[in-house]
Amino acid sequence: MDRTIKNNTLYFDGCNTVELAKKYGTPLYVMSETAIVEKCKEIRDTFLNKYEKTRAAYASKAFLTLSMCKIIEREGLCMDVVSGGELYTAMKADFPAEKIEFNGNNKSIEELQLAIDYNIGRIIVDGLDELDLIEEICKEKGKKVNILYRVTPGVKSDSHDYIVTGKKDSKFGIPLDDEVIFPAIEHAIKSPYANFMGFHFHVGSQLHDNESHLKALDIVLKLIKDTKEKYDYATPELNIGGGFGIKYTEADHKKPYAYFLDPMMEKIEQFSKDIGIERPEIVIEPGRSIVGEAGITLYTIGTIKDIKGIRKYVSVDGGMTDNIRPALYQAKYEGIVANKAEEPKTETVTICGKCCESGDVLIRDAQVADVKRGDIFAVFSTGAYSYTMASNYNKNPLLATVLVKEGKSEIIVKRQSYEHMIENEIIPDSLK
Ligand SMILES: *Cc1c(COP(=O)(O)O)cnc(C)c1O
Repeated sequence: MDRTIKNNTLYFDGCNTVELAKKYGTPLYVMSETAIVEKCKEIRDTFLNKYEKTRAAYASKAFLTLSMCKIIEREGLCMDVVSGGELYTAMKADFPAEKIEFNGNNKSIEELQLAIDYNIGRIIVDGLDELDLIEEICKEKGKKVNILYRVTPGVKSDSHDYIVTGKKDSKFGIPLDDEVIFPAIEHAIKSPYANFMGFHFHVGSQLHDNESHLKALDIVLKLIKDTKEKYDYATPELNIGGGFGIKYTEADHKKPYAYFLDPMMEKIEQFSKDIGIERPEIVIEPGRSIVGEAGITLYTIGTIKDIKGIRKYVSVDGGMTDNIRPALYQAKYEGIVANKAEEPKTETVTICGKCCESGDVLIRDAQVADVKRGDIFAVFSTGAYSYTMASNYNKNPLLATVLVKEGKSEIIVKRQSYEHMIENEIIPDSLK
């Protein structure tokens, strides 16, 4: 376990969190290399090595730094990027181009050019005219790229249930209307500038139930069958996305990768036999599940306001700028007073940030030890979609990130300085 308690203090991957806070300052993201590596190993053991012709592309939008690219490469995963900036980061870390896949519902011409120049492995085409853009660029450069179509299976998912939505109501993917998808498939098959590899779907995120994955899979397998029958074309690849849930709070019952992947693989193998094609190469795109629980955020407690009979607000020195998820979609977190880790949790408080928004609350009704100004508060499971969604609201500088491993710590992202924050700002002559 990456989180342990010793001498009334929280340790994370062998590091004393109170000392980390002292050494690097707060607020601070702390990422456990051990935890990331364990997740990658689970993917290798229960998917990549268990089934041949498989790949896992880390959805880098969950957490991306140069160092993370190095870890992902070392652990044998591919990388999924969704913007020119993510692609640039991977390039700067010398991540192998053929192992990069490019998702996104509105890739710009410049982003596509960058991807094609770098000879990335796959472009996942997300709209009907995107292939036209790709063809123009490839024609000019004399290149050919591997593409997949992201389709919208029309399955909406949440943790417990799925509802079939109006099939066009998503900004992602190509809707599965016959008059839309089949001309697109024909276009891709015939394109002199694209190798049509197959289909991609991604049903949602933070899922604890495999139902929506399985339901979407059925729909897309039907599409593979139709493509085979109509065009005598067996798509060599199928990307089944990510979305595997993690444990944020005690209420979350996380499942292993195999819970999602084994029944899907069984379905795909059977289907391939049934229609007489070679089983396509299967690609997954886990993001949150690799890094989510591998990260914590350390804060220093400041002002405490006890509104008698109503609520006790305990403020920390960060907030929605370093973790927007509670404010954005009421995401739930848990945490602990890191320097009072063994003390009884006698108080119910609201952990709030320092930003000028009433919604800047990190944890409502947290059970904590008797907190005082200057204590260190650790929020758990902040490794995914915190750093990558951070902002400079209220001109709060972006946090430093420390990578920890078995008691050792190294800085992988420096804290942003005030100077750095305003370095792109210019006062025009008219205001001087
Ligand atoms: C965000 C995303 C993922 C990763 O989702 P997680 O819930 O973080 O696993 C995978 N594929 C696509 C296309 C995505 O947009």
